[in-house]
Amino acid sequence: MKQIIDNTFLFAGSAERISTLINSLKVGVLLQGPQTEILFSNKAALSMLGLTEDELSGMSSFHPDWNVIHEDGSSFPAETHPVSIAIHTRKPVANIIMGVYRPVTKDRVWLLVNAEPLLDDKGRVKEVICSFSDITERKAVEEKLNWLYQSLEIRAFELATSNADLERFLYVATHDLQEPLRMVNSFTQLLKKKYSKQLDEQANEYIDYAVEGATRMKKLILDLLEYSKFSTNNEELVPTDMNIVLRDVSLKFFKELKESGAELIIPVLPVITAIKSLMVQLFENLIGNALKYHSDSKPVVQIECKVDGENYLFSVSDNGIGVDPKYADKIFILFRRLHGNSEMYEGTGVGLAICKKIVELHRGNIWVESEQGKGSKFYFTISAKQNPVYEKL
Ligand code: ADP
Repeated sequence: MKQIIDNTFLFAGSAERISTLINSLKVGVLLQGPQTEILFSNKAALSMLGLTEDELSGMSSFHPDWNVIHEDGSSFPAETHPVSIAIHTRKPVANIIMGVYRPVTKDRVWLLVNAEPLLDDKGRVKEVICSFSDITERKAVEEKLNWLYQSLEIRAFELATSNADLERFLYVATHDLQEPLRMVNSFTQLLKKKYSKQLDEQANEYIDYAVEGATRMKKLILDLLEYSKFSTNNEELVPTDMNIVLRDVSLKFFKELKESGAELIIPVLPVITAIKSLMVQLFENLIGNALKYHSDSKPVVQIECKVDGENYLFSVSDNGIGVDPKYADKIFILFRRLHGNSEMYEGTGVGLAICKKIVELHRGNIWVESEQGKGSKFYFTISAKQNPVYEKL
């Protein structure tokens, strides 16, 4: 070893000092001859390859005990080993990743390998310095990340496919159901119109039930169709003056407000980045419910909005019948209703599910705070950060 160091580095100084220096390196170092035979190995190299100095000494890259693979698992022929390439080309080879199965323990270590040829006066390769570091841990983390990434991709693909399938199913079902439903509806009505005098009271009552059922089913299908449209909404988020949104919505309820004497209180509202048609629908559903689920007192519906951290916090409160807090989450689920189909509270249970979709499309949340018999307050947030016109209220 002394001779090699002297020959190689022509270093004026103690060979022991250099030997200590090389052995203290955390990088594996091999000095290989022109036939790739190992002439010298430092401590780090022995520990990474799991061999003693005697076992390693003289071994060439072509020794049958070496089992080396590429990153993709294919075998790494000795003639493509960085040291062989450096000998062949007389040029350095850098950063080659090799999976080396330790000859004794047979476990695998991943090495990042460099080879530097040392040339004599005539330009012939005298020796090659092969240096390498252990990147097994880094590879394990990379592999884990890769695996996670791939499973995420698969999951995202599965979700996108099943969502697309569901939407298609919903759309086809709602469209195709309309035709037979129209037939049931019109023929039962025709039956009633033409034969009601010939039928007894009970038969007429049955026909009424059939007409009522068909009408209700039509309403359900139309609402479902409305709900299914949301995932395909590709209107752009634009600055939307919420004062105009609320003006349009209150015009829609004008007649109802006048007839019931209900009060709708609307403050000055901000301009937010949103899809205007969806904001109209959101407020229509919430105000519609606030008026529908009224108590015996005159309905008072109050809209509020304030800045809450990075969000606008909107609320619609009423003095109606309220919601039992234990159902506060359930009422946002499609077709979930807390009331039967009484004349007073007609509905299909789609309205709040649509509200939830609209709010989530704007990256916000929606919830209700309420006590039975004491009115309800529906809250929803819309990010103020995405809003160019971000003003304190
Ligand atoms: P629908 O009104 O058609 O039943 P929604 O999805 O709009 O469907 O509402 C779901 C349920 O939530 C309603 O059936 C009702 O029980 C309850 N609900 C919604 N809004 C209010 C409100 N303002 N006050 C009391 N209950 C409400």
